[in-house]
Amino acid sequence: MLELRHVTKKFGNNTVLHDINLKVHNGEVVVIIGPSGSGKSTLIRHMNLLEQPTSGKVLFQDKIISGSISKKAQQRVHENIGMVFQHFDLFPHFTVRQNISYAPRVVKHLSKSQADRQSTELLKKMDLENKADAYPDQLSGGQQQRIAIIRSLAMNPKVMLFDEPTSALDPEMVEEVLKSMKKLAKSGMTMVVVTHEMGFAQEVGSRVVFVDRGHILEQGTPDEIFHHAKHERTKNFISKIL
Ligand code: ADP
Ligand code: MG
Repeated sequence: MLELRHVTKKFGNNTVLHDINLKVHNGEVVVIIGPSGSGKSTLIRHMNLLEQPTSGKVLFQDKIISGSISKKAQQRVHENIGMVFQHFDLFPHFTVRQNISYAPRVVKHLSKSQADRQSTELLKKMDLENKADAYPDQLSGGQQQRIAIIRSLAMNPKVMLFDEPTSALDPEMVEEVLKSMKKLAKSGMTMVVVTHEMGFAQEVGSRVVFVDRGHILEQGTPDEIFHHAKHERTKNFISKIL
């Protein structure tokens, strides 16, 4: 589904990713962990054109999406690969329903009634149906983040990327967002998730990838990485997030 092939990324003289090779298969939930500043965000941002590799290639469904690609190819990436960030970036002057409907209407040319029907369905699934007419600032952080997830899902993506989606939330709101993400994972969505939420990784992670100083130091099942890590640096990191 997604592949980074020999990806190296430099910012000026600073090499942030060193020869990264990573494949994400259909239906997998790949969890990326690692210390702050190790390159996790830079890595995941290569998967939807937010960063370009200095060398190497990024592929989506076996087609190269890095380098100069056509507008049409870029649009294909934007339609098929959704992303949710740490800071829920909802449009503040739009209602929840308008937030969800905006891209499907503009990009996919859905009619208002089609878009309304779709947003109602998605809101129902996430138990947020009664918030359709609310504005973002009338919602809790957890609710806003769940709306941000729904907004991405409204494009019917093939893959969902998450970069520390719960790390800006108050502790009591983390669970509701993780619950939505688990539901999505169990529905078969292909996901790449930067998170230190071990419970999430253990319950739905197919694979955990440990990134350290721009290298993939090791990867394996959640059990292998959390309980039987091979490298001291991995063990040391895990002991801090346990
Ligand atoms: P993580 O998400 O693991 O905390 P990042 O991918 O955000 O790590 O950052 C990895 C390194 O790349 C850091 O040293 C950071 O300062 C640097 N970096 C990230 N983005 C940029 C940028 N746009 N320009 C320059 N340096 C950057
Ligand atoms: Mg980051």
